Amino acid sequence: MTNVIGRFRFMDAQRVNLDGFAVEDASIGLIAFNSPADPVPSLVIDAGGRVIEMDSRSAADFDILDEFIARHGLDLAVAAEAMATTDLAYARMCVDPNVPRAELVRLAAGMTPAKLASCLALLRPVELGLAMTKLRARRTPSNQAHVTNRSDDPLLLAADAATAAAFGFREVETTVPVLGDAPSNAVAVSIGAAVGSPGVLVQCSVEEALELEMGMRGLVSYAETVSLYGTEQVFVDGDDTPWSKAFLTSAYASRGVKMRVTSGGGAEALMGGAEGRSMFYLESRCVALARAIGAQGVQNGGIDSASVAGSVPGGVRSLMSENVMVMARGLEACTGNDALMSESDVRRTSRTLPILLAGSDYVCSGFGSIQRYDNMFGPSQWNAEDIDDFLVMQRDWGVDGGLRTAAEPHVAALRTRAVEAVRAVYRHLGLADFGDDWAAQAVDAAGSKDVPAAELMAPLIASRIIRETAVTMLDVVAALYETGFEVEAGRVLDMLKARVAGDYLQTAAIFDESMRVLSLITDPNDYAGPGTGYLPTPDRQAEIDAVRQQRSVEDLRREQAGHRSDQLRVVGPAVAGSDPREVVVGVSPAVAREVWVTLSGLTVVEALRELLAGLEEEGCFGRVVRVNDTIDLGMIGLRAARLSGSGIGIGLQGKGTALIHRRDLPPLANLELYSVAPSIDGPLYRLLGVNAGRHAKGATPEPARNPYSDEAIEARYHTKVVALVGIERGCCEPSQPPQELAVQR
Ligand code: CA
Repeated sequence: MTNVIGRFRFMDAQRVNLDGFAVEDASIGLIAFNSPADPVPSLVIDAGGRVIEMDSRSAADFDILDEFIARHGLDLAVAAEAMATTDLAYARMCVDPNVPRAELVRLAAGMTPAKLASCLALLRPVELGLAMTKLRARRTPSNQAHVTNRSDDPLLLAADAATAAAFGFREVETTVPVLGDAPSNAVAVSIGAAVGSPGVLVQCSVEEALELEMGMRGLVSYAETVSLYGTEQVFVDGDDTPWSKAFLTSAYASRGVKMRVTSGGGAEALMGGAEGRSMFYLESRCVALARAIGAQGVQNGGIDSASVAGSVPGGVRSLMSENVMVMARGLEACTGNDALMSESDVRRTSRTLPILLAGSDYVCSGFGSIQRYDNMFGPSQWNAEDIDDFLVMQRDWGVDGGLRTAAEPHVAALRTRAVEAVRAVYRHLGLADFGDDWAAQAVDAAGSKDVPAAELMAPLIASRIIRETAVTMLDVVAALYETGFEVEAGRVLDMLKARVAGDYLQTAAIFDESMRVLSLITDPNDYAGPGTGYLPTPDRQAEIDAVRQQRSVEDLRREQAGHRSDQLRVVGPAVAGSDPREVVVGVSPAVAREVWVTLSGLTVVEALRELLAGLEEEGCFGRVVRVNDTIDLGMIGLRAARLSGSGIGIGLQGKGTALIHRRDLPPLANLELYSVAPSIDGPLYRLLGVNAGRHAKGATPEPARNPYSDEAIEARYHTKVVALVGIERGCCEPSQPPQELAVQR
């Protein structure tokens, strides 16, 4: 190790090197696309309309997946045409704006898993983006949140579910660290979501039987955790078959519960059952199976094995290709970006950005709306830590990633109401009694660490009572109504009514905030090239653009006015001095009019005091003059020098940039420049005063070193700088001579 050079020791210490990277190895399934063991696409149908060969395997050799897909997953009416379409022709149709989505979906329905994988493997990254923009089912993009916490605290779950709804999430997924807590979690999240907004879908991801039971009781409004795998071995290891999954799918549909399946490349390799096939081919079998068992959608794009896919060459591209494949099969796509794939912010952004730009039914199939440590699925690709980043990314590109800025007072009010609603319902149903401390902590908490008052047994006891007394969502509705939460009672009841109507079983259905169903049927994606497809409405665009951090010139003007001080004021016209110990400090036109504080946070008065004190240390004295006819710092410094008895002047802009000038030099040729205004602190202004004094005396100045900084100083201050320059320009009067200012010491 000792002979590794510093440059590589430094590179090794970067976060991306916490990730694992595999040499491509088809024999164990560590290959994204096109394994040598992937079958050659084929489809042979006998005269009786029976599939006798699929993907180079004869019916006699079919495994359970082949059998199910061959029987239920292919549209044989279009199969001959679809299989005869060349891979390249289909891939080109995916990006041709003149070929509508419906045509691609029609053909894909007749393609075998190997055929569709073979076609879509041809799409390059930017082409995948175009294909996704066109192929997704729903026109309006959306997003899904995780709402969980380490202690299954019902009050915190409700507050966080309301918060997630406020930030725009239309599906909220919870789970448990303790299985027995699941019913309480489902109830608390459903109440919280209803406080946040009408129409937010809620699921509780747990073991399949309990999840179905909660669905039957109305405690959740959708399900997602029915896992599919691409090889028979892995299916059988999980005690499942395509038939059992199909039965489960039908069970949900029979009760009007929206449901999608979960799969994702890399899972089979992770379980040692990849049979040497590529991740993309195996995922193609899963997606074909999802279609065959009648699920309305698929959550894929690696999911729990995203980091396995991410470890091989082209793996991240294959994750997005999986999502496009779901769309081509005419299903709702919940496009991964859930499990944290990388410790590197750059890599995880790289993985998500193309999907955010393309637009998806759900950009994330689990954005951790809570902090990483509270995410009981494990940290997500995006978490509460990143909500502001995500909002700004939406704004940067002008795209709709399903989220919106939520104002703090609004969120505070929602959290308070969510906590009170859960307290009332749990008390009313005899599930739990929550103390005031606990409630107050849950409202304020950024995470479960902030709720020490939470009692860990409470959710378990509440869940037991829910199951033993057969509490259904209708009981929760009644409890909300009787305890004064009529609006929320109505919203939860509306979710139950929707199950009877069944419109939200349509592909890619979500509810908008007016309880309108947006789906493939009611909000079909109509992208057909530039000028078509989804565009945010002007209101929605304004929501995307208005991040809470944005500031206007007026905001800045108010901030500056807050520092107004009578310690700096005009005393009369400025005249030329004659004392050789005198150094004039020239300030910019807006100083003591509209600009009072520099970018470092030091007020202009404080900066001037340091300069004057520095001059005095050298036996000199300073005089402050406001230059009114230019905002150019070199000119301000030169004007000051020409009024100065010593011929040395200091120029100081209101924003804090400063320089030392001499009366006989050209404007741009100053003696010393302190240019990074935000990092000029008191001692540096003092040093600048000292050095100006030394220049005046003909002595040697001390070198001023720029402080080390790796921060995005420019990004942080440029908006302020632009505004301050505008204000300075507004105060600049070409005909106005300089004025003398008094600085109270
Ligand atoms: Ca999910």
